[in-house]
Amino acid sequence: SKMLEIRNLRAEVDNKQILKGLNLEIGAGEIHAIMGPNGAGKSTLSYVLSGKPGYTVTDGSACFMGKDLLAMEPHERAAAGLFLGFQYPVEIAGVSNLHFLRAAANAQRKTRGEEELSAGEFIKIASKEAKALGINPEMLKRPVNVGFSGGEKKRNEMMQMAVLQPKLAILDETDSGLDIDALRIVSESINRVMRQPDRSVLLITHYQRLLDHVKPDFVHVLVKGQIVRSGGAELALELEREGYGELVA
Ligand code: ADP
Ligand code: MG
Ligand code: MG
Repeated sequence: SKMLEIRNLRAEVDNKQILKGLNLEIGAGEIHAIMGPNGAGKSTLSYVLSGKPGYTVTDGSACFMGKDLLAMEPHERAAAGLFLGFQYPVEIAGVSNLHFLRAAANAQRKTRGEEELSAGEFIKIASKEAKALGINPEMLKRPVNVGFSGGEKKRNEMMQMAVLQPKLAILDETDSGLDIDALRIVSESINRVMRQPDRSVLLITHYQRLLDHVKPDFVHVLVKGQIVRSGGAELALELEREGYGELVA
């Protein structure tokens, strides 16, 4: 069954066309990687799917678990099980990490018709995940991402993902700026939380390195707003060896 179905997606920002007829299908249980040169539109794709203001869809469709994703508000997308991890995670002053996470988790539970978690119940779950990710429990009380180091933000993003248990995670350059240990921890977390028959991942990355740890079922190359080539995990290795070459010409 299809988790995400994108057809002929065209989108612009500041009246500039960035996505130019993008097609992509992600099945349940699959991990897809998108690679491509700088400026290809990779981050734009993740912003459009998240419903970020300023990104205008001019044509095409995106269907998430059978629903019209583009018709949903950003918070509805999240509540339906879409998770966006960002290249530059947002800071939210004045809202503790723990409060933010519990509100998000409970919004999802409500959508699924489940009981909300009390503060006490949630602290237990969050503390366990923090430990698995090597996150200092004190970080849970701090405002979301404010003053976090690059590595802490990435671990925190994985923490959010583990607590939310999304159906589809879109991770934009989750590997950027990570040292070897952090890369291993983040990869383990993606595999543990998301390598499930009813979950899927869209992994946006510049480097093959992450794909050694999180093995994709499919690899796509995005160039100038379109997917110009698709293959298996071996395609990432080929790109690493040979560069984008004729694909960008
Ligand atoms: P990637 O993530 O693949 O490196 P992006 O999606 O960030 O690429 O950017 C795609 C293109 O859109 C780039 O040419 C970039 O300069 C342009 N772009 C991104 N944001 C804006 C904006 N706010 N206004 C105008 N152009 C933008
Ligand atoms: Mg970029
Ligand atoms: Mg980008």
